[in-house]
Amino acid sequence: MTPYGIIEKKRNGDALTQKEINYFVSSFMKGEVKDYQMTAFLMAVYFNGMTYEETRYLTEAYIQSGETIDLSDLPGIKVDKHSTGGVGDKVSIVLAPLVASLGVPVPMISGRGLGHTGGTIDKLESIPGFKTDFSINQFKKLLKTHGLALISQTEDIVPADKRIYALRDVTATINSVPLIIASIISKKMAEGINGLVLDVKCGKGAFMKTQKETRNLAKGLVRIGKEFDKKIIVVITAMDQPLGYKIGNWLEIEECVDCLKGNGPADLLDIVYALAEHMLILGGAAKDKFEARQKCEQAITNGTAFEKFLDIARAQGGDTKMLENPEKYPVASGREKLTAEKDGFISGMNALDIGLACVELGAGRLRSGEKVDPQAGIILFKKIGDKVSAGDDLLEVRTNNAGSIPQVMEKLTHAVSIDNARQKEPKLILEDLS
Ligand code: URA
Repeated sequence: MTPYGIIEKKRNGDALTQKEINYFVSSFMKGEVKDYQMTAFLMAVYFNGMTYEETRYLTEAYIQSGETIDLSDLPGIKVDKHSTGGVGDKVSIVLAPLVASLGVPVPMISGRGLGHTGGTIDKLESIPGFKTDFSINQFKKLLKTHGLALISQTEDIVPADKRIYALRDVTATINSVPLIIASIISKKMAEGINGLVLDVKCGKGAFMKTQKETRNLAKGLVRIGKEFDKKIIVVITAMDQPLGYKIGNWLEIEECVDCLKGNGPADLLDIVYALAEHMLILGGAAKDKFEARQKCEQAITNGTAFEKFLDIARAQGGDTKMLENPEKYPVASGREKLTAEKDGFISGMNALDIGLACVELGAGRLRSGEKVDPQAGIILFKKIGDKVSAGDDLLEVRTNNAGSIPQVMEKLTHAVSIDNARQKEPKLILEDLS
């Protein structure tokens, strides 16, 4: 067996054996398979796909690259959530403290930005001092003390996903069903949960563009997840325009704070509640969706959800003063607004173009390992269905790399469309596969 032979076999569209997949992943982890060989392999998988068995072997190889956390000594039914990735998708940062504040332990391992989509870890790290790299013991301690832990893949926990994820981010090998399944399910199975709620995104700003493709990914995630004996629920949600009004690392934290204080945008809150209902039922904290929704609304109104966010931010080293007074956070030096050229109604806010613009502004990475700009991003002033008059502000870009602004503004003019007729408000929750 050689790395070359395995890449060649996959390039030719043949199915790999478990031995070959284990060998390739473990050799990569030992440094014997180089980054350029792994990316060639990823591109071969991107074009030729994988059988169900290969996908399962790849998921297992990822899990075996690190340790699996045993949480059975901690009380409670542990439930997590994961999203396949979107633009302005900050749901986890509101949902995790909300659900934990209602007594369901949430052990959450997340990733950094991937392609044009932002990552929970980059967003959390925009909070000054907030750490996401913890050992297994520290992870368990956080969970035991706070009922919540928000960490990244580490050298102990799914390190194969950590490294391969970083390569996929910058080599256009993200939107591959088997690679997404292995990446998500490995992280989630390694963290010792009992149940999982998946937000599978569909549309222009998602990795899956059509409902058929999305359903195929959703079914694959559930099928592989079931091999590990976990209860998995999938909700398919729309990702044609960004979620909420703020896109970019710190900007999204600001919007999460608003949301946890009861002032969040309706679309964000709708998805948070839809997923929280499932998590609370899975975790035994509510008997049905009605009770779950009531509890969620109460936790937002009485401040316990926001208190839980402050609690975990403090425990993970974050400066909570910034969360209590977000207006004190420094603002990016470069700012420019895009205005409407004509009267009408917003008919499109292309999430993919807006996500790519954010990457160019510095909120995401163009090369593996690059630092992101926590202040970079885009604030939307309008969303699909809103009425506009010529000259109205549509959005504002923010960056510390002013040189990127002219090119980004040019792209953004094509990302927003205005029509004479008002469109029906787009549906947000497309399917609930519980
Ligand atoms: N989220 C992940 O963790 N991995 C993917 O591949 C896509 C979304």
